[in-house]
Amino acid sequence: MPKPNGLPVAREWYRVAAVSDGISQIIEKHVVPWMRCNIFLIRGRSSSLLLDSGMGFRPIRNEIEALRDIHIKCVCTHCHFDHTGCAHEFDVRLGHASEAQIHAEPDPDSTCARAWLSEEIITALPNDGFEIANYRLTPAPLTGYLDEGDVIDLGDRAFQVLHLPGHSPGSIALYEKSTKTLFSGDAIYDGDLVDNAWHSDAEAFRESLRRLRELPVETIHAGHFPSFGRQRLLELIDLYLAGAISIGDVHAWKAAKSDT
Ligand SMILES: [Zn+2]
Repeated sequence: MPKPNGLPVAREWYRVAAVSDGISQIIEKHVVPWMRCNIFLIRGRSSSLLLDSGMGFRPIRNEIEALRDIHIKCVCTHCHFDHTGCAHEFDVRLGHASEAQIHAEPDPDSTCARAWLSEEIITALPNDGFEIANYRLTPAPLTGYLDEGDVIDLGDRAFQVLHLPGHSPGSIALYEKSTKTLFSGDAIYDGDLVDNAWHSDAEAFRESLRRLRELPVETIHAGHFPSFGRQRLLELIDLYLAGAISIGDVHAWKAAKSDT
């Protein structure tokens, strides 16, 4: 039977791919590539991290066996709807204190869903009768805070927390010194950067990127789009600082993406 908006119901919503030792990437298969976030599962000896959790269109824990481990901590790089939708499924939810209120009482404006959510971002329905107009994030109050200088120790690997405001006030990234790997959230990715959301601060964004330039990082797993290396990081920072990769008008940007 045809669905109301013509889309089929997806059998699988998530796809898991191994990235490197102990790191897997999870994507929402039926969210368009220019919108979906990268979700990372980082396994350690004593505990594991789920870094961001997607839009929450469908529960993530039921579908991915590795996430049923009780020792998984969900880390939110920031409070936007495309990164926090399944956070409520986890008992431990960590993020920056400046966005605690939004995690606890998410609404379409504060989580940027109003600006970004629309029919064209999905290519299948997560369940029968799904309507994007009825989408609401489930409140997921943070159970602990992360800030600059904190270290998350997983037993055999450890991550340093970097506070990189700009995209949002509480944007954080995780840096693993031993492997020179950065999980950057939306502070930097290989695409047009958003520095004009309601709580963005473009000057703080520039400062955060100048800071990243000095970090001896070799591999960047970002909040959107494919991972990249140091050379590309420096190019992206230069492009942003030159004003070449700011997203500008969201609706015009989305319309251009939808046409391609
Ligand atoms: Zn964001």
